[in-house]
Amino acid sequence: QLSFPPPNMSQTERTYIMVKPDGVERGLVGEIIKRFEAKGYQLCALELMQPSKDLLEQHYRDLASKPFFPKLVAYMSSGPVVGMVWQGKEVVKTGRKMLGATNPLESAPGTIRGDFCVDVGQNLCHGSDSVESAEREIALWFPRGAASWTRRFDSFIYE
Ligand code: UDP
Ligand code: MG
Repeated sequence: QLSFPPPNMSQTERTYIMVKPDGVERGLVGEIIKRFEAKGYQLCALELMQPSKDLLEQHYRDLASKPFFPKLVAYMSSGPVVGMVWQGKEVVKTGRKMLGATNPLESAPGTIRGDFCVDVGQNLCHGSDSVESAEREIALWFPRGAASWTRRFDSFIYE
């Protein structure tokens, strides 16, 4: 019988990924989940929710002084969003790469924004920009906490 050493999970981290109202409306929730699943990342929380203005203002508090802030909060309040927590090696940085540049006209083809949208004010998805932001955002969107589970499949993803 072949045996393998347990996968090295020491560099695992979590990120907050959110499908924005335009993504939910356009039926792209599955497409976005599919890309993170196929990459090998692990789902730890998932919920469709209608965020309050207050929650959105907290989520985007670093952008409160930007001229586009009121429009951003209105956009994000315009319908339900799907919040998710994904776990894995360098998932914060890699998740941002999978989303693509903030302005979809500058997002590379092959990224979610590069493949599916055009305008910065309708850019489909959110991803935390650092491990610290991710922890803050996960606590904000999933106050009851995300799941913690060991995936047997990890030994096929990590060496
Ligand atoms: N945004 C916008 N106009 C801008 C810059 C940003 O409407 O000029 C929106 C856009 O939806 C973006 C969000 O504000 O995703 C948050 O901006 P941030 O700079 O944090 O970009 P992200 O982290 O989402 O790539
Ligand atoms: Mg951001």
